[in-house]
Amino acid sequence: MAKIRGDISIDVEKCKGCELCVVACPQDAVALSSEINKQGYHYAVLIEDVCTGCTSCSLVCPDAVITVYREDRKSKKKTPVAEVRNVTGDIKIQVGAEEGN
Ligand code: SF4
Ligand code: SF4
Repeated sequence: MAKIRGDISIDVEKCKGCELCVVACPQDAVALSSEINKQGYHYAVLIEDVCTGCTSCSLVCPDAVITVYREDRKSKKKTPVAEVRNVTGDIKIQVGAEEGN
């Protein structure tokens, strides 16, 4: 059975380079960039196109800067399946596609 195709987006300017996502990724798809962001941190980047959309990186990120997507193979539509928002206030954790998607 084919693996699920996933993707992530990282808000690199808010990343603090803690590497938790690097360690958490079972696909070894995330690494720290050699570049630094405006805060002076080496930020996380997706280095391999092998993401399965497992959500591990997003769930461990203490700064809530990773959104994970899973791609519908038929429609090619990408749906966010893991988002952590508003860490200074209410926290929203969503794992799995929202109803209706
Ligand atoms: S969603 Fe899973 S496979 Fe994809 S980059 Fe994050 S930890 Fe790795
Ligand atoms: S876990 Fe979050 S803050 Fe830490 S390196 Fe990854 S994206 Fe950056």
